[in-house]
Amino acid sequence: MPTIVVLGAGVSGLTCALELAKQGGHEITVVAKHMPGDYDIEYTSPWAGANVLPMALDKDSRWERRTWPVLRRLAKEVPEAGLHVQTARVLRREKDVATGLKAALADGLFQFDPWYKEVMDNFREIPANELPKGMHSGCEFMSVCINTAIYLPWLVGQCAKYGVQFKRGIVKHISQAHNLSHTGKKADIVVNATGVLACKLGGVMDKAVYPARGQIVVVRNEAKGFMPTSSGSDDADDEIMYVMQRALGGGTILGGTYMRHNWDPNPDPNIAVRIMKRAVEAHPELTDGKGIEALSIIRHGVGLRPAREGGVRIEKEKIDGTWVVHNYGHAGWGYQGSYGCAEKVVELVDEIVKQEKRQSKL
Ligand code: FAD
Repeated sequence: MPTIVVLGAGVSGLTCALELAKQGGHEITVVAKHMPGDYDIEYTSPWAGANVLPMALDKDSRWERRTWPVLRRLAKEVPEAGLHVQTARVLRREKDVATGLKAALADGLFQFDPWYKEVMDNFREIPANELPKGMHSGCEFMSVCINTAIYLPWLVGQCAKYGVQFKRGIVKHISQAHNLSHTGKKADIVVNATGVLACKLGGVMDKAVYPARGQIVVVRNEAKGFMPTSSGSDDADDEIMYVMQRALGGGTILGGTYMRHNWDPNPDPNIAVRIMKRAVEAHPELTDGKGIEALSIIRHGVGLRPAREGGVRIEKEKIDGTWVVHNYGHAGWGYQGSYGCAEKVVELVDEIVKQEKRQSKL
């Protein structure tokens, strides 16, 4: 039975472990410095909103296309997973359209006539008379919001149900991971799901990976009805506006920023005020029109999106004699692409197993 170590317990590592375990026929250990329940600047997944706002530029990209049906099913049929259905409202500002939407940070999201109109349920262009002031155009569709504090532990539970074992561990070099299987055997395959730390991990040291710092404010106020996001803000080029209410009492996430190459773990109080002002302006129902003083703050937070020049890395590579399947660099779409990426990881693992079996090594 092939032995697999999944390095990383963020949404990428956990989804891979789950999809591999569901297949059966592997002995899987998840090894990670941080696990669900931890809040740390080196661990991005807990900080995400998270919702589904398709960002791929390529209409044939499978990552988000293949993930959406799974997340929709979880939201509708598996309440304990911590997702619920919400309407997403994507707004293009007149100012950003005038500059060719160059400043819009979410890639494919703000495109006109977007590819995802065929994928996302209940897609509609917002008629001009329904647009907020200053908005050129926009669209709405059915999405989901994920309470990451519930969903990540749910993934751990699902993995455990299928026999995955969990271990804390820190590796300096990727080749150390193959000694960390719970079986005591050397792992045949290591899945590298180390997120933004892939740029610091020995044997990988991917210099194309960099953080895109996201600052958020989590509040108790409810943002019923829809999740707005806009193509830019007047405050700074790397500041954006989005609001999303998490399922199961997870509070409402107010965002945010997209600050490239910025590793600062501390919430900036001035940015926090600007985030709250933008959110209340876009969604006045949050405070019944009373302004930011009426926001009840649960916490301020910062997470580092694992961005990568050239996009996500999902490929196999032999490092020091061990097969490694990389799955990192998901920037701001790690949840909404998680099942599509895990599906590719499963395919690559299968290819390696078949190849090694042909050579009678497994
Ligand atoms: P991580 O969650 O960072 O996990 C990495 C894992 O690897 C951790 O367990 C870590 O401990 C482990 N690790 C790393 N190095 C080592 C080592 N050397 N030894 C041992 N363990 C190691 N995405 C969406 O889809 N929708 C959203 O709405 C959304 N909103 C976001 C909002 C914010 C503010 C932020 C910050 C992100 C958002 N994202 C969103 C992006 C999403 O959070 C990330 O793409 C995703 O969490 C990346 O997950 P990951 O598993 O690859 O990395």
